[in-house]
Amino acid sequence: MRNEGTNDMKDNFTPDYMFGHFYEITPAFLKSIGVRAVLSDIDNTLAPYEQDEPDERIRAWVRSLSESGIKIALVSNNHAPRVELFNRELGLLAYPDSGKPKKKTLLRAMRELGVSIEETAMLGDQLLTDAWAGKHIGLPALIVPPIKDKTNLFFRFKRWCERPFIRKYAKKNGYEEWMAFWRISFHKEKV
Ligand SMILES: [Mg+2]
Repeated sequence: MRNEGTNDMKDNFTPDYMFGHFYEITPAFLKSIGVRAVLSDIDNTLAPYEQDEPDERIRAWVRSLSESGIKIALVSNNHAPRVELFNRELGLLAYPDSGKPKKKTLLRAMRELGVSIEETAMLGDQLLTDAWAGKHIGLPALIVPPIKDKTNLFFRFKRWCERPFIRKYAKKNGYEEWMAFWRISFHKEKV
């Protein structure tokens, strides 16, 4: 039915799992949802735009996943100089100019990691690029609030577009304080 198609479109934007910070995503959690590979955005997911290189928290997170046998690739819409410098120490498979929400680079990353769609998740901070890119090919979307969002009109508009999907997630899974970034709020015991 046509209507179901409409619903599927919406579902391509709603996060499957949300976290306050990337480093709260543990190997144990990933394994519990059957994930052994993560395709991760960089900007505002792992580090703010102006942070050129990974800090100890990022390195420790990458290490903990790797040591647990979980593969990681960086899939960024930013350009090669940014991605290569950020990845210099990490040495992960990394894809600049990935063209998210298009699926091409995600499929390539999974192919080169040697993993299937069924065992991979997409991590990012934007629903219209990261969540959509992953979800329309069947990857669960792990979403974090942006570390330090851009404040220009275009970005504010994009965040405004995300609100109904964050609200939908919060209604289903519970409201967390850091969701206030999207300017949604809930009464905890709303009847
Ligand atoms: Mg981002």
